[in-house]
Amino acid sequence: MYDVIVIGAGVNGLSAAYHLLLEGKKVLLLEKGKAGKEASHAAAGMLGAQTEMHASRELFRFAVTCRDYFCGLAGELENTSGLTIQYRQEGAWRLACGIEEEQRLKKLTALHHEEKEPAEYFSGEDVRKALPFLKKKEVSGAAFFENETQVDARSYTAALIEAVQHLGGEIREQTEVRGISRFSGKWQAASPDGNFHSEKILLAHGNGKIKGAAMPEMIPVKGECIALLPKEQPFSCTIVTPEVYLVPKADGRVIVGATETEGELSKTVRAGAVQYLLGRALALVPELNEAPVDEIWAGIRPKSPDGIPFAGKLEEDLYVLAGHYRNGILMSGYSGRKTAEMMTGKNSEALQFLQPDRRETIEYSN
Ligand SMILES: Cc1cc2nc3c(=O)[nH]c(=O)nc-3n(C[C@H](O)[C@H](O)[C@H](O)COP(=O)(O)OP(=O)(O)OC[C@H]3O[C@@H](n4cnc5c(N)ncnc54)[C@H](O)[C@@H]3O)c2cc1C
Repeated sequence: MYDVIVIGAGVNGLSAAYHLLLEGKKVLLLEKGKAGKEASHAAAGMLGAQTEMHASRELFRFAVTCRDYFCGLAGELENTSGLTIQYRQEGAWRLACGIEEEQRLKKLTALHHEEKEPAEYFSGEDVRKALPFLKKKEVSGAAFFENETQVDARSYTAALIEAVQHLGGEIREQTEVRGISRFSGKWQAASPDGNFHSEKILLAHGNGKIKGAAMPEMIPVKGECIALLPKEQPFSCTIVTPEVYLVPKADGRVIVGATETEGELSKTVRAGAVQYLLGRALALVPELNEAPVDEIWAGIRPKSPDGIPFAGKLEEDLYVLAGHYRNGILMSGYSGRKTAEMMTGKNSEALQFLQPDRRETIEYSN
């Protein structure tokens, strides 16, 4: 008998499990395939609180808190797991190509100033001086966010797995939960390998479906990425445009991403996606032309119906942490911690706007 069964061992389930273990709970993670091999394996690892465009100011503030939380979490996880997560604090640029995007970036910069977050707007001429390797003439302005950070998503996931096990958490792989039900005040998770029992269940199964779990269905959004391995990285900070992003990793790779195809579940990489991403990336930084292609992959982001994650209570002793869409790595640390605190009866005000019963908001924003 466990205190909590977490269903799904992606970054969200793993982070919640890690924080529940720190709260002294007995935790079992049930994972359909291999831990950390779905959306969490595909991510570029940007902790893009400011570079991403968020649906509301509340979500922006939450994203900033999540990014800043990572600073302490990175060291904590590395100590517990003995693994590095390649946490980098080099900042990020968001480039504008054209007047509309320039206006958007100026507004965004002003909003970040109101929120006391550092953000600096550069004219086209100034950005070319600051980033001389940029060759695309159309770059007409940019904003620089010095507090933006990043990790290697796979190393982060591996460190979470290690830390969970180190703290005594159990992870059962190849165990698909087909249904959940409640008997005499306890929860049961049913799988072909047997039934598992706990006081509470946390649903963190991303794009998966489970019978008896009354929660809104996720919208799968496929994303394709390419990793280049240049002899030398031409830049050390993340570069984001409306069409493509380039993320220089601590191991020397540059990740070029990512496409967005809603409703698509296949993880094959389309030739057209490779052409699209490389076409845009190389037009921006032609110096990468000679870089060997190291890896090409696709993953499926779990998106909630209104694009805002779910973190909260579904019914008595049943909770959800899912639907983080483009920002699951960024948000997993802090939302995992706050979900663990909510499940152990602590203050969970920070998650108020992520409650799954926000039907009115969902209908309104649709
Ligand atoms: C191409 C791409 C680039 C991205 N880049 C970034 C980025 O730079 N920064 C960022 O913050 N985010 C990024 N993301 C988003 C991020 O990867 C996701 O939001 C995040 O990984 C979601 O984590 P999760 O734990 O909710 O889901 P997942 O990682 O998908 O984990 C869910 C797990 O549940 C398991 N499962 C499902 N059904 C069952 C079941 N019935 N029983 C047991 N287990 C089950 C699955 O096998 C899976 O392992 C990117 C995503 C993609 C695809």
